[in-house]
This record gives sequence, C-alpha cells and structure tokens, in this order.
Amino acid sequence: MICAAPGCAEAVARSATGRPAVFCSGACRVRAHRARQRDAAEPVSVEVDVGSATSRGRPPERAWMVRLRRGRRSVIVATGLRRAAAERLAGQIADLLGTGQP
Ligand SMILES: [Zn+2]
Repeated sequence: MICAAPGCAEAVARSATGRPAVFCSGACRVRAHRARQRDAAEPVSVEVDVGSATSRGRPPERAWMVRLRRGRRSVIVATGLRRAAAERLAGQIADLLGTGQP
C-alpha cells in the first residue's frame, strides 16, 4: 500500500496489530492533515468536463462528466452524460450549493 499523503509515493509498512497505517510517516500524516484543512477553507465548485478513460465503450456524445471540487480534491458525481444533461445537472448542483452557474 502507498502513503495517502499528497505527493508521496512511499510504501506504508503493514502493522501487525491495530488499525492499518495510511501514511508512511508522522510527517506525512501532519502534512495531509494541513492539506485537508487548507482545502476545507476553499469553496466548493461544480465542473462540467469531458471524460477520457471512463468514456470507453460509450458513444462520444455521452462522454461528459460532472465533478465537485474543493481545493485540489474532487469527486466525480456522474459520468457518461450528454453535454446538455451534464450542464443541467451541474446547474442544479450549483443552485443547491448557492455557488451560481458552473
Ligand atoms: Zn508519505
């Protein structure tokens, strides 16, 4: 398993007991915590984008995705959409969040 800290690719030692480690070191755990705090201060935005790998096997017009972003972190909420459907969904989410149109 690889360290969960942003930008770290160190392997995480498997512990014999207790909760499995997520970070390779205390420094990485602290760094990841600070990065989450920084991201938490960022506003949430909604993005409409064209997917790449996830659009395989779908017709090209159904390659659109909707993503929520806060700082450097993001979550894809829908893939395989037509552009109009993606923009409608993004508009509804933006309206719900009160962030305006994406
Ligand atoms: Zn690390």
